[in-house]
Amino acid sequence: MSHAVDVPATDGASVRKMDAPATVARGHVDWPYAISFVIYHLVALLAFWPWLFSWTGLVVFMIGVYVFGTLGINLCFHRLLTHRSFECPKWLEHGLAILGVCCLQDTPARWVGVHRLHHQHSDEPEDPHSPLVSFFWGHVGWLLVPNHELSRMQLYERYAKDLLRDPFYMNLERRLFWVWINLIQWAVFFGSGFLIGLATTGADWFEAFRFGLSILIWGVFVRTVVVWHITWSINSVTHLWGYRNYETDENSRNNFIVGIYSNGEGWHNNHHAQPRAAAHGHKWWELDVTYLTILALKSIGLATKIVPFRKLPPGRLVTNNQPVE
Ligand SMILES: [Zn+2]
Ligand SMILES: [Zn+2]
Repeated sequence: MSHAVDVPATDGASVRKMDAPATVARGHVDWPYAISFVIYHLVALLAFWPWLFSWTGLVVFMIGVYVFGTLGINLCFHRLLTHRSFECPKWLEHGLAILGVCCLQDTPARWVGVHRLHHQHSDEPEDPHSPLVSFFWGHVGWLLVPNHELSRMQLYERYAKDLLRDPFYMNLERRLFWVWINLIQWAVFFGSGFLIGLATTGADWFEAFRFGLSILIWGVFVRTVVVWHITWSINSVTHLWGYRNYETDENSRNNFIVGIYSNGEGWHNNHHAQPRAAAHGHKWWELDVTYLTILALKSIGLATKIVPFRKLPPGRLVTNNQPVE
């Protein structure tokens, strides 16, 4: 298959512009996505209102970025379900997938399908979110307009069949369990904050209500928005700026800042060169907290068959059209 993108030889050089995929319904808006993004961002902004600030909320938010973002999205949706970089017991896989569902980044099968399509056609016209169209398109614009290529059955049939053989993932699609999971997490975060508030204020109901809201907004809304932008910046920033350890036939980059704040997903050129490898950091200083977590799971017997990365000869072109599972 031919590749449409000329990858510049040096970092920061001019990058060829691309059009959005031909399958995008131009001039249309995917309203459910657009409205959810606006509401979540607006509610998250309430976190700046001092009345809703609490140190506990801030700590719950920070822990949540790791628990839901790193474990749910990086480790489960990406490295485990999309690329099968390692294996773990089903109960653990499903538990981690629920954490991923709490990030409101679509169902596991949809996420996996879109991401496998991205690997198969990175920075080509079929790529659903190449930032060679524009930074905004690669970051979030691609989610705001309908794209026929991503219409569910077609995407699932081609890229997520293996996942949907498991009734757990099929149920998340068919019965809208993912919606319930998200409503339940609202209730759990607000409810625990409210109860802790009642217990610590001598049953001051108003104060308990304020504390519950603080935990909900910091623990769910701010965390969801921040994890969105972390994930989205992998699609946008790390296909534009950074350095390359491997000559891949698309524009992926290792970006130090994204690598650190995303807990390892920003070593994206390494990842495109060797998609199945569990470690995305390939140099000693490319810190990869997600991979360290996989090693921690291995040490207690919960991760097996971890796919290692290989040393490749410098300058060798690595093509993307390889099996992406
Ligand atoms: Zn990529
Ligand atoms: Zn990937």
